[in-house]
Amino acid sequence: MARIGFIGLGRMGAHMARNLLKAGHEVVVFDIVQAAVDSVVASGAKAAFSSAAAAQDADVVITMLPAGEQVRDAWLGQGGLAKASRADALLMDCSTIDVATAREVAAAAGRPFLDAPVSGGVMGAEAGTLTFMVGGDAEAVDRAKPILSAMGKTIVHCGDAGAGQVAKLCNNMMLAATMAVTSEAFVMAERLGLPAQALYDVCSKSTAMSWALNNSCPVPGPVPTSAANRDFAPGFTAALMRKDLGLAQQAAKDAGVDAKVGALALALFDRFVESGGGGKDFSGIITMIREGK
Ligand code: NAD
Repeated sequence: MARIGFIGLGRMGAHMARNLLKAGHEVVVFDIVQAAVDSVVASGAKAAFSSAAAAQDADVVITMLPAGEQVRDAWLGQGGLAKASRADALLMDCSTIDVATAREVAAAAGRPFLDAPVSGGVMGAEAGTLTFMVGGDAEAVDRAKPILSAMGKTIVHCGDAGAGQVAKLCNNMMLAATMAVTSEAFVMAERLGLPAQALYDVCSKSTAMSWALNNSCPVPGPVPTSAANRDFAPGFTAALMRKDLGLAQQAAKDAGVDAKVGALALALFDRFVESGGGGKDFSGIITMIREGK
């Protein structure tokens, strides 16, 4: 069993650290919020007084932080993890961040470093069923698999450093645009007298089927577990979707791609978040579309 330094115990990280404990690993944790540390310590983790202390003597060091700025600072800043961790430790970041920072941190680490963002949300983190999209050295990915499989059930090696972030941003750009157009279709059907259930019964089994429609249908009824049945309590928040769409636009721009549909999705989610929808599930975008805003 490994000794794992885990930094960032928010809505995702706390569950992920607990699943590592359940798998029998020794987990040493740090977060700038003491209550977050206390809650994981109550599940059996050891507390460290800094991120560098959590990394000291660890076989594996994992960060799960809000954005690129915090990830760069944690790894490369003063007392950063790249220097504080053992030379042979397995290093990885599971946050969703911009591709450029992921590549910068991996290059500056000076040894194998994995970007391993996740999909599956808080429920997936708790259940240990996350999907990991991993960028980096193949040998390091093989070493990481037993660790990642304690937190998730699908692990895809996407390519070199940054490839995991590219996969994550492409996925969420497709998901956001699909949810927006699915919501437009349901509102259109409502106005034209087509029952939502009938639209669902046809489209969920025809060429319009998608995860957005089949698993996260934006109207109550057809999919009892979708957020629409609980006034759009998240799930995956619109604020996080906006963040990922912004990162996707940046990545598209850097690659010389004019991603117009992705840009439109970003504009829609921007408006939804600015009008107070940030804490709602991202499928709540239908309420803004229904209001014609
Ligand atoms: P969160 O804001 O709940 O948690 C982030 C944690 O990092 C907080 O506890 C915060 O105190 C801590 N932190 C911030 N700066 C720190 C530092 N310098 N040192 C130590 N700890 C620090 O975020 P989350 O929902 O857990 O998401 C984490 C990452 O996972 C984000 O990049 C997010 O985009 C991504 N993600 C989230 C979801 C989701 O559904 N919440 C799904 C997939 C991916």
